[in-house]
Amino acid sequence: MSAKKVLVTGGTGFIGSHTIVELINAGYTPIIVDDLSNSTPQIIDQIQKITGVKPAFFKFDLCDAKSTNEFISQNTDIKRVIHFAAYKSVGESVQNPLKYYRNNLYSLVNLLGALSEQPVNFVFSSSCTVYGEPEQLPVTEEAPVKIAESPYGNTKQISEEILLDTTRANAKLKVTSLRYFNPVGAHSSALIGELPIGVPQNLVPYITQAAIGKRGDIVVHGNDYNTPDGTCIRDYIHVVDLAKAHIAALKSMEKDSAENRFKVYNIGTGKGSSVLEVINAFEEATGVKANYKIGPRRAGDVEQIFGKVVKAEKELLWKAELDLPIMMSSAWAWENYIKQNPM
Ligand code: NAD
Repeated sequence: MSAKKVLVTGGTGFIGSHTIVELINAGYTPIIVDDLSNSTPQIIDQIQKITGVKPAFFKFDLCDAKSTNEFISQNTDIKRVIHFAAYKSVGESVQNPLKYYRNNLYSLVNLLGALSEQPVNFVFSSSCTVYGEPEQLPVTEEAPVKIAESPYGNTKQISEEILLDTTRANAKLKVTSLRYFNPVGAHSSALIGELPIGVPQNLVPYITQAAIGKRGDIVVHGNDYNTPDGTCIRDYIHVVDLAKAHIAALKSMEKDSAENRFKVYNIGTGKGSSVLEVINAFEEATGVKANYKIGPRRAGDVEQIFGKVVKAEKELLWKAELDLPIMMSSAWAWENYIKQNPM
């Protein structure tokens, strides 16, 4: 394997940018491909401020097969890929399913097609949405994949099937699919973080935007669920812990000569927190009031989900280390940074 190069698609995005920092810290040479459809090139300068290294960056749309093939044919020494590039808004995918099927599936198919001649270890961004409303908690990797609740979720299920079939047909391809739970927080430098476009669909950016005065009160979507305080429960994971899971996955694939060339792992903390617990944790960690009101349930929300994460601990030698207070204080520091330094 040459020069520890890693192709990172979607590398200027939220999880991608944090992973680029961790890759550089771990001695890898990341190469970013991103079409900037949901990110800004300023992130590359921010990564340089954190690491002292400016990663190589190529701007193109992976749905463009010609550009993708050209890029890979000029970079035949790339043996490691982390594929983040995708659209990710559940609500938008319901409104505009073809936009999601087109982008999330064409980009994957093009990339795999372009890489078909070279041996590649491939890490894929999957999601706990593949489990739907799980029958047992914590949910394990063996839990059945349910009929997807949204076109977005379906693109993750179909992508995993595409990857499984492709590993069966192409012995040069090894895949690790990481099923993320709910990534939140920001790098400790507060120089990179999540940049939601429009009204955030996720709780933590909504809390920080409401607390800084960009939005009105937080709306809690339902408090009549069958949970201790009636609000939905999720497994929140710090984005830096999540970023490190990708390095663990690459290292594990490098060591592993197992026959099974398609593996899936839950990547979470294993602990569920309710919406109200997260709001309280924000107030306690920052000393800032987060006003909320209770609204109706939101279509498509599962009542509770958190993962069993022992498989990743055992096989990837990875474990989440950062707790909810750090997730909240880092997200708040980032919200304050972008107030002073809009991107
Ligand atoms: P993000 O939108 O911040 O990053 C995705 C990046 O991919 C963006 O920079 C975007 O410009 C780029 N991109 C999208 N389509 C592209 C294309 N066709 N060609 C080139 N670049 C393209 O999202 P994120 O939160 O960092 O998520 C990264 C991955 O993790 C996605 O696959 C997402 O579905 C998955 N995921 C995210 C979450 C979450 O809550 N954030 C949870 C589970 C899974």
